[in-house]
Amino acid sequence: LGSAALALSMAACSGDGAGSGSTSDEKPSDLTIGVSMPTQTSERWIADGNSVKEKLEAKGYKVDLQYAGDDIPTQSQQVDQMITRGADVLIIAAIDGTALSGQLQAAADAKIPVISYDRLIRDSPNVDFYVSFDNYKVGVAQASALLVGLGLQTKDGAKGEATGPFNIELFAGSLDDNNAHFFFDGAMDTLKPFIDAGTLTVKSGQTKIEQVAILRWQQEAAQKRMEDLLTSSYNDNSKVDGVLSPYDGISRGIITALQNAGYRGVDEIPVVTGQDAEIASVKLINDGIQSSTIFKDTRLLADQAVLAGEAFLQDKTPEANDSETYNNGVKVVPSYLLPVETVFKDDIQKVLIDSGYYTAEEVAAGQ
Ligand code: BGC
Repeated sequence: LGSAALALSMAACSGDGAGSGSTSDEKPSDLTIGVSMPTQTSERWIADGNSVKEKLEAKGYKVDLQYAGDDIPTQSQQVDQMITRGADVLIIAAIDGTALSGQLQAAADAKIPVISYDRLIRDSPNVDFYVSFDNYKVGVAQASALLVGLGLQTKDGAKGEATGPFNIELFAGSLDDNNAHFFFDGAMDTLKPFIDAGTLTVKSGQTKIEQVAILRWQQEAAQKRMEDLLTSSYNDNSKVDGVLSPYDGISRGIITALQNAGYRGVDEIPVVTGQDAEIASVKLINDGIQSSTIFKDTRLLADQAVLAGEAFLQDKTPEANDSETYNNGVKVVPSYLLPVETVFKDDIQKVLIDSGYYTAEEVAAGQ
């Protein structure tokens, strides 16, 4: 652990110990962890919330788990309530990474350590630890999966047999989510040489994150943008060959728009990437309709959140494995980052079924 991170983490638990007046000799059953999740519209956050809750409860802690329905005022209010009800640690996956400064100040005033979960909370000195995946690498993996799907690259990174040129379109996540920028940067750094060489053409010309972002990662908004792109840029008999999509819900919106416009068969549908290995998308991958997804094992992320929470409750410093990447605008937040895995059709068995994440029946049924 770097000395800066150590100092930051120690500052976070200075004073009379972690939590609102808690001391390390309190029993787990005296301690409450507030867990604030953004939304239940996407499976992953339900899985995240359940895993964190179950794992903390198994250790005897009380858990106050709330979902905010992707509404910023609701999340602020829920976090306020957790603080008032005496939470000893907060684990927060923010909707808008910059909207919780007031709540975090109140948490700091009450000596409640804050763990930023998956999404970095920005513009606040009161973020004590960050657990996430390597978000830049997620973007690299998504762009690489697009190249593999198009045949420009092999899975092990060698040159593929296809030569192009190919038409692609780009999508990004919600601009208020710090991760969306990391995903897009990783993807664009990977695609840029192919775009510069003319192997890939973004026919709409929309290559800036502000042009391609989808507010709140909404499937319907993604479908609408894809429909608009098809109307505006592909009305000359040209075809879309690939779409960079940052999240499975967005991928399904894109696929619906493409199918409605006549790209129906497995051979006609463009290469569409994704993220989160949502069951509906895993089925689409199994059926040859979506090309790939990025699997993030939320069970492992929950483990790290629980470890970090428990460390704070015991007046210890959580173990970081990265103390330089995540500057939240005020400070570099010590982080624990997990690796991710790309899933194509022939990886489903090994990565998702053999690991117990899904059963073969779930994959076949898509639910
Ligand atoms: C998460 C992704 C998820 C997206 C939409 C991001 O912050 O890192 O895993 O796909 O939010 O929910």
